[in-house]
Amino acid sequence: MLGPAGVTAGLYTKRANLNVLIIYKELSGLEKADVIENYYGFKNGISGEELYKTGIEQAKNLDIDIKKEEVTNIQIGENKNYKVITENGIYHTKTLIFATGNKRNTPKIKGIKEFEGKGISYCAVCDGFFYKNKDIAVLGNGNYAISETNELINIAKHITILTDGKEAPEIRADNVDIDTRKIREVRGNKKIEEIEFEDNSKMKTDGIFVALGVAGSSEFAKKLGIITNKDKIIVNENMETNVPGVYACGDCTGGLLQISKSVYEGTKAGLQAIKYLKKQNEKV
Ligand SMILES: Cc1cc2nc3c(=O)[nH]c(=O)nc-3n(C[C@H](O)[C@H](O)[C@H](O)COP(=O)(O)OP(=O)(O)OC[C@H]3O[C@@H](n4cnc5c(N)ncnc54)[C@H](O)[C@@H]3O)c2cc1C
Repeated sequence: MLGPAGVTAGLYTKRANLNVLIIYKELSGLEKADVIENYYGFKNGISGEELYKTGIEQAKNLDIDIKKEEVTNIQIGENKNYKVITENGIYHTKTLIFATGNKRNTPKIKGIKEFEGKGISYCAVCDGFFYKNKDIAVLGNGNYAISETNELINIAKHITILTDGKEAPEIRADNVDIDTRKIREVRGNKKIEEIEFEDNSKMKTDGIFVALGVAGSSEFAKKLGIITNKDKIIVNENMETNVPGVYACGDCTGGLLQISKSVYEGTKAGLQAIKYLKKQNEKV
């Protein structure tokens, strides 16, 4: 991922002669920073945009492969490999370094937080099974929402994609409808039962899968069984997650949301990935 953490991890791994791919979709947190005056080496400060662009150029100068594609899913593949699924294709990799920044996709709709785990889910592959032959909804309208819907198509009886007033995505399937009404509230008793829209109309549902915007670290973590705490990926001092070969660095691990910390953690994650791959190759 193309922020200071991901680029730094890329620099170390590429210089160790590994095949490196950096995938990014939206802007890094860095690009939003007007002037950065607390990062080493810039006596007059530097704009976030300039630092961001310099990092990318540095990566390109090392011939690191950089792709602007949205990652919509990550799965465990065969032989300890991982499958990174983007809007354009699938990449197979032996190690993964999450450097997805500090982004949360919790919708500000009344009732959503209250019913988390009681009909509100953030992971189709983890919870889809519980909705076999049920009427469910997916909240979102981008590539990630489509990807989550596709995971659920053969499980649920019917799926309504709720765009909450946003543009309808393109998807065609017999058991999928799109509803663009704005949502006022979701409610139920012990479990979620009903969605109320701004126009006072209502819809019954057995569950809602939240898939807003671009999936971030916490969404991917759920799919891979990576332990998180309040949406932050838990890592040890070597940036290792609980899943072998999967590392996380930068804002997505929480703590100080600063460039210096992202660079340090990107370094650690890169070096640890190099060690891991070396060990894997020795075993073959
Ligand atoms: C307004 C503002 C001012 C700041 N000022 C300072 C400052 O003065 N000093 C300082 O040290 N820090 C500052 N920061 C914080 C700093 O920008 C972050 O700590 C740093 O950018 C984090 O780096 P990162 O690599 O972890 O994540 P990011 O830089 O956010 O990069 C994350 C990358 O992941 C990619 N990504 C995420 N999900 C997907 C997906 N599904 N598919 C594909 N790509 C994906 C994104 O496209 C992005 O490229 C500021 C931040 C902001 C917002």
